[in-house]
Amino acid sequence: MTVETINPATGQVEYRHELMTDAQVEAVLAAAQSAFPAWAQRTLESRGGVLRATGASLRRHREDLQRTMTAEMGKLRREALAEVDKCADACDYYAAQAAAYLADQAIATEGQRSYVRFEPLGCVLAVMPWNFPVWQVFRFLAPAFMAGNVAVLKHASNVPRCADLIARVLEEAGLPEGVFGVLHIDNEQAAGVIRDPRVVAVTLTGSERAGRSIAGNAGAQLKKCVMELGGSDAFVVLEDADLDKAVAGAVASRFGNAGQTCIAAKRFIVVETIAEAFTRRFVEAAAKLRLGDPAHDATTLAPMARQDLRDELHRQVQASIAKGARPLLGCAPDASYAGYPASILDAVAPGMPAYEEELFGPVASILRVRDEAEAVRVANDTTYGLGGSVWSGDAARGERVARQLQVGAAFVNAIVRSDVRLPFGGTKRSGFGRELAEHGIHEFMNIKSVYVA
Ligand code: NAP
Repeated sequence: MTVETINPATGQVEYRHELMTDAQVEAVLAAAQSAFPAWAQRTLESRGGVLRATGASLRRHREDLQRTMTAEMGKLRREALAEVDKCADACDYYAAQAAAYLADQAIATEGQRSYVRFEPLGCVLAVMPWNFPVWQVFRFLAPAFMAGNVAVLKHASNVPRCADLIARVLEEAGLPEGVFGVLHIDNEQAAGVIRDPRVVAVTLTGSERAGRSIAGNAGAQLKKCVMELGGSDAFVVLEDADLDKAVAGAVASRFGNAGQTCIAAKRFIVVETIAEAFTRRFVEAAAKLRLGDPAHDATTLAPMARQDLRDELHRQVQASIAKGARPLLGCAPDASYAGYPASILDAVAPGMPAYEEELFGPVASILRVRDEAEAVRVANDTTYGLGGSVWSGDAARGERVARQLQVGAAFVNAIVRSDVRLPFGGTKRSGFGRELAEHGIHEFMNIKSVYVA
């Protein structure tokens, strides 16, 4: 079957590729299986050398990767370059930290010796989304490779050339054949790969819908999985917040990557005494964003990645307005192929898609609340639990509120971001398991107890 990639800035077909045949999939899985033992037995220094070379290879291919991301999913040039740099830094980070993260951990018992040892599992299937088409992959690969695992990637169907370029970056870094393989397959074929006994675990970054399907398939095979799913992060603005900082954070968090970020602030929960001032300034700042060609440096708002995603976002906006939300800015599709302008909805309330669902595009929802207690209640009144931020002139107060959020990451006076040093992941329907930091590298390892009496 032929799959087409459409450039979201132009509407033109960018690339056509064929899905792999069963024989091609078999070859990728067989190569992964035969590569695993030697890769797992290499020393950490040796695997770390390959990871450092991968960082260097990423930096060499920075411009190619940027152009490919921009053409396939519409990422702004400067955002794409920053994404590649972040991947290279993550490779260096894990190369440097793995010895500490993977060292045996002595445990005091009545035995002569007892300790925890970390062992790789084998081949992990990674199912990845298009929104950070390079970062999401390296966020998983850097720790997986240092752990001694091998990986096969099923990338989103609209970023096939990003997947192939990642394979080239790794090959040029000297990664042994078979340690990484790309599978150009559809979701049905992916279900077959999950059933394959050579695949020992699965990681998904994607939507709740994909999570139910993939976690269901992995569960049926009793295979470990990590689920990094959607979010509807709260951005809580208390009455003592520094509005300059809060507004700048709101614009960056909601409209970066055309709003297509799992940890973007989506629900702006504002205490009513400052709601007018915050909202007016937020609208003024968002109105300055310039939607346009993502390859041009003057553009500050990228188009959405696909026209169908833009249309679905607009349906959610219209349904919210029909139930009483007030459009303050934007809220109508742009004339371009997949563009949606910076949009703000006020008076968002329970029962509206903007309250209940994830809006995966450049639309901010404002919810006005009486006080701190109501802000916490509304922030937690969601099926999601990925991240949340709190803005207050009193950092201790902000921290007190942040600790009450039912999320995987709570930030005070800063926007939620992924940082290789901090674990990343969600609660509730935002998923389970963690990536990054020490917690992430242990997800796909056998945490083995050794006891000598
Ligand atoms: P998506 O439609 O779920 O796709 C993600 C990946 O899953 C793609 O490779 C897709 O392949 C695949 N997929 C979808 N359904 C599948 C199924 N039934 N079986 C096997 N594979 C399946 O999500 P998206 O639209 O690309 O990404 C947006 C979502 O990801 C948002 O909800 C966002 O919040 C979430 N996200 C979460 C994180 C996080 O770290 N928590 C980070 C980024 C994004 P095809 O393209 O071939 O359908």
